[in-house]
Amino acid sequence: MPTTTSTNKSTPKVGFVSLGCPKALTDSELILTQLSAEGYQTSKTFDGADLVIVNTCGFIDDAVKESLDTISEALAENGKVIVTGCLGARAAEDGSNLVQQVHPSVLAVTGPHATQEVMDAVHTHLPKPHDPFLDLVPGGFGEAGLKLTPKHYAYLKISEGCNHRCTFCIIPSMRGDLVSRPIGDVLKEARALFAGGVKELLVISQDTSAYGVDVKYRTGFWDGRPVKSRLYEMVQELGALAREYGAWVRLHYVYPYPSVDAVVELMAQGLVLPYLDVPFQHSHPDVLKRMKRPASGERNLERIQQWRATCPELIVRSTFIAGFPGETEEEFQHLLDFVQEAQIDRAGCFAYSDVNGAVANQLDGMLPMALRQERQARFMEVAERVSIEKLQRRVGATMQVLIDHAPALGRKGGRGRSYADAPEIDGVVHLLPPQKASKTLKVGEFTRAQIVQAQGHDLIAQPI
Ligand code: SF4
Repeated sequence: MPTTTSTNKSTPKVGFVSLGCPKALTDSELILTQLSAEGYQTSKTFDGADLVIVNTCGFIDDAVKESLDTISEALAENGKVIVTGCLGARAAEDGSNLVQQVHPSVLAVTGPHATQEVMDAVHTHLPKPHDPFLDLVPGGFGEAGLKLTPKHYAYLKISEGCNHRCTFCIIPSMRGDLVSRPIGDVLKEARALFAGGVKELLVISQDTSAYGVDVKYRTGFWDGRPVKSRLYEMVQELGALAREYGAWVRLHYVYPYPSVDAVVELMAQGLVLPYLDVPFQHSHPDVLKRMKRPASGERNLERIQQWRATCPELIVRSTFIAGFPGETEEEFQHLLDFVQEAQIDRAGCFAYSDVNGAVANQLDGMLPMALRQERQARFMEVAERVSIEKLQRRVGATMQVLIDHAPALGRKGGRGRSYADAPEIDGVVHLLPPQKASKTLKVGEFTRAQIVQAQGHDLIAQPI
C-alpha cells in the first residue's frame, strides 16, 4: 500500500495523436478513457507531455507516410513515444516490424485494438499517479472532448470541485467549489452510455452526496419531466434507466449524511447496486474535526448499522488515513475498533503524508513517518481480517458476475466482478471453466456463478 504522495509532483500527462479511420478513433477513445480513469492527464498536443501515444493508420501509402512522419515529429519534440494502431502491425520487407525498423527508438509498438498492451507500455514508462485524493476521480472525460466509447463499464462524472476544505486536501484550491452538472445532461449521458453497451456505470465526483447543493437542488428536465438536481432523484432516475438496459449503477464518494438513508432504501429495492464508497478517513470525532471532514458530526457507526438494517446486502468501501497529525494511540485504537465494528467490507489506508499547500502540514503533533507507517500496517491487518472473513461467508452462494476477461469465450475460465467489487480498486471473481460445453463467457456480459472458494481479496466461482 503506497503512502500518500505530495501533489507538488504534477499529474503525469500523455499526449495523444489519433490518425486514421473511425475504428482507429474508437481505439483511441478506449485508451483515452482508460488513461483518464487511471488519473493520467491527456492532451492532443506534445506540449508538456511526459510521453506521447501515436495511433497510426497503415491503409494507403499516404497514411503510412503521415503516420511515420507523425512518429518522427513526436520523437523529435518529446522523445518518449508509444505507437499503436494498424501501422504498428505492419511488417517491413525483411519481415521485421516496420515502425521499429524506421524508428528504432520508439518505446513500444502494438497493433490495433490493443488497449491493454498500450496501457502496459504506459505503466512501464510513466507510472500511474498514486495520489489517493486525486487518482480516484478521473479528470479528463469532458476536457478530452471525446464521447465515451462503448465499453462495459464507464465513469459518469456528476459534478466538479468541492465545497469542503478538508485540511489534508488541495482539490478545492485546484478545481474550485462544487459545480453540479445539470440533471438532464447527467441522465442524457447515462442513457447514451447504456445504449452504447455500458453494463456498469460508476457515478463519481468529489462529493456525490452534495450533488445539486450549488444550484439549490434546482429542478431540471429529463424526458419532458421535471426532476430535481438532488442525489435521491438522480439515483432514482439512473436506477430506472439501468433497469431498462439490464445494467448496474455503482455510487462512489458518498458522505454519511442523513439524506443518504433514503438512497440506501433505493438500494434495498434493487434499483442501484447495494454498494457505497464512503471515504471516512477516520472515525474519531476529534481527528475528523482536525481533518475538517464533511459530516464529521455524524454518528457514523450507528449510521452504517442503520444502513445495514435497511439493506443487509450493503457493501461499504472506504479509505482511511493513519497517523494524521496529533493522532493519539487512543484515537488510532478508536479507528481500529470502528473498522471492526462497522464491518467495513473493503478498506484502503494511507500513512499520512504532507500534500504541498495543504493546511494539515502546519498542524501540531506531526508524527514520525515510521509510526504513521506502523499504524497503517496495523490498520491493514485488522481491515484485511474483517474483509476476508466476510468474503469467506460468501462460499456456497450464487452471485451475478459481470465478466471483465474471458479469452476463447471463457473455455479456460475468466475473470469478473460481483456487485461487491468496483473495478480497479476491489477484488475480483475468478471464474472456473464452465462445466457445460454450451456455456460461454463473454466480456461485458453477466453470468451467474456459484462461489466455491475465497482467496485473499478475491473469490473463485463456478459459472452456472
Ligand atoms: S471532501 Fe475534502 S477530501 Fe474530498 S475533495 Fe473535498 S476537500 Fe478534498
